[in-house]
Amino acid sequence: MKLKKRCKTYGCPNLHSNVSGYCDECTAAYRRNHPSTYEKSRPSAHKRGYDYKWQKFRRDFLAVNPVCAMCGAKAEVVDHKDIPADVMLEAYGSFDLDPSHYQALCRRCNTLKGLDYDKKAREAFHQDQNFLETRGRG
Ligand SMILES: [Zn+2]
Ligand SMILES: [Zn+2]
Repeated sequence: MKLKKRCKTYGCPNLHSNVSGYCDECTAAYRRNHPSTYEKSRPSAHKRGYDYKWQKFRRDFLAVNPVCAMCGAKAEVVDHKDIPADVMLEAYGSFDLDPSHYQALCRRCNTLKGLDYDKKAREAFHQDQNFLETRGRG
């Protein structure tokens, strides 16, 4: 059994064996009060591309293109129109901030666009099959 230590929080009587020096209760309380600290510490897939320049570009782009290019809803996302973000990062080391390579999308359309095209094609194929089977039986 591990040796229990006093919590580092001033006045907290709890004993614990956490490396952090804080008891479970205090750790949980800290996490509740500072959720962003834990969010930020998680490395994001495209993090090195999303720097200050990109943030500014994105803001300006949405100011000029306030509606979704696909459905006309309020645009919230700047989408890499022809070159996927990953490929662009591989090729250029950072995002090419040329507005002609981007389009404004709403969250819904961005999510739909992000879906794997092969998967969508496969699903559509199966839907057709089901449709034909239903018709055949019916
Ligand atoms: Zn504590
Ligand atoms: Zn849309």
